[in-house]
Amino acid sequence: LAYYFEQIAVHKHLNAFNEVFFDSATQQATLVQQKLANGTAGKLAGMVIGIKDNICYAGHEVTASSKMLEGFISPYSSTVVERLLQEDAIIIGRLNCDEFAMGGSNETSYFGAVKNAADEARVAGGSSGGSAVAVQADMCLATLGTDTGGSVRQPAAFCGNIGFKPTYGRISRYGVIAYASSFDQVGTLTSSVSDVALLLEVLAGADEEDSTVATLAVPQYSQHLTLLAPKKIAVLRETIDNEALDPEIKQAILASLEQFKSLGHEIEYVSFNLLDYLVPTYYILTTAEASSNLSRFDGVHYGHRNTDAESLNSLYKLSRAEGFGEEVKRRIMLGTFVLSAGYYDAYYQKAQQVRRLIREKIEELLKTYDFLLSPVTPTPAFKMGEHSQDPLVMYMADIYTVLASLAGIPAVALPLGNNQAGLPLSVQLMTKHFNEQELLSLSHSFL
Ligand code: GLN
Repeated sequence: LAYYFEQIAVHKHLNAFNEVFFDSATQQATLVQQKLANGTAGKLAGMVIGIKDNICYAGHEVTASSKMLEGFISPYSSTVVERLLQEDAIIIGRLNCDEFAMGGSNETSYFGAVKNAADEARVAGGSSGGSAVAVQADMCLATLGTDTGGSVRQPAAFCGNIGFKPTYGRISRYGVIAYASSFDQVGTLTSSVSDVALLLEVLAGADEEDSTVATLAVPQYSQHLTLLAPKKIAVLRETIDNEALDPEIKQAILASLEQFKSLGHEIEYVSFNLLDYLVPTYYILTTAEASSNLSRFDGVHYGHRNTDAESLNSLYKLSRAEGFGEEVKRRIMLGTFVLSAGYYDAYYQKAQQVRRLIREKIEELLKTYDFLLSPVTPTPAFKMGEHSQDPLVMYMADIYTVLASLAGIPAVALPLGNNQAGLPLSVQLMTKHFNEQELLSLSHSFL
C-alpha cells in the first residue's frame, strides 16, 4: 500500500485520482493483514483497487467528476464495492472521469483532464480515463470503470491495459451513478487477464438491489483460464478495411490475426454492413436515457444548489445551469429533444428499432462464429484539445466500442504493444451473451 501511495504522489500531475482514501485504505490494510495472519482472508486479500468516481462507497465523497455533486458523501455502498470489501480488497481512492461518464477523452471532467502516461500531451481516453492511467502508471493493481459505450475499453486501449466489459446484466449497477441504464455496465481495467477473471467472479451475479442482474450461476472464471479448443473468429471486415483506421493499428491487428491462427483458431472475414448506424443509434438512445436519469439532480434532492433563487422553478434552472458542464447540458438537451412529442417516433422509436436490428445481426453472426474481432479505436490516443471543440468527431470515434454496448454482449480490449511513437495499440474481441469464460480464456492464451 505504501508503494502505491508513493506512486500516486510521484504521478500526481497526471490527475488520475480525484481523491486518495488514505485513512480507510490504511485501516482496511491493517484488517486484511490480521485476517491473513489468522487464515481468514478473502479471495482478493491485499489487492489494491481504485474505483471510478461514479461508484458509491459509504462515507466517501462521490462526484461523477461534476460540480453538481462536489462535496456529496455517499450514504451507502454500491454492490460492487461491498463485494470487493467482503473479499478483502483494499480500495485506494476514487478516479477521475468524464463528467457523469459522458465523453471519450476525460476532458469533460470538472476536475480537469487526465494525462496519458505514455505521452502527457495526449488524452487518457474516457470516460474512465483516471481508471486507465492509474493502472498504466502502477498507482494501484486494478481499477473499476463503467462502460456505457466504450468507457472502459477505449481508455484501456489508449493506455495499454486490458479493458473488460461484461454482458449487460452480469454485474450489479446498484450504487453506480446512472448515465444510460440500458447500456451501463461496470468493467475492469487491469494488466493481466487472471486479475479480470478473479474480479469478475467476485463482482458478478444476482443482486437483490438490482433486478437487471441475471440470476445465472457465476463460474469460477479464474480456475478455468485454460487453452481453448480451436474456435472460429470472425473479423468484421468493414472495421478493418476502413480508410479511417490508423495504419499502425491495422498492421498490429493483422499481426494479431496470425497469432490467433498459430494458436489453432480459424479466422474468417465477415461483412458487417450496419456500421454507419452504430454511432447515431447509440447517441439517440443514450442521450434520451441520460436526460431522464439526470433529472434527479435538481438542487433539491441532490447536488449543487443555487442560493439566490426566488422561486422553485428558478432554483431548478439556476442549480442545473451552474452544476452541469457543457457536454452534459448538450446531452440533456439532445435527449429531451429526441423524446419530445412530435420527434419521439422519428428519433427515439426509430433508434430502438435499429438497435434491435443490430442486436439480431450480431446474434446471427455469433451463431456461426465464437468471437467477433474489430479495432477498439480508429486511432491511438489523440492530443489534448484536438477534438474537444468538435463533439461530432469525438462521437464518431466511438464507432467500434458502441457495437458491443448496443448488443449487450461482453467485450475486451487487449493491448498489442506500442506504435513507433510509443503509443499503445489494441484489438477488441467480443462474444455471445454470458460467454465471459471463453472470452477470458482466449485473451489469456493470446497475451
Ligand atoms: N464515449 C462514449 C460516450 O460519451 C462512451 C461513454 C461511456 O461509456 N460512459 O457516450
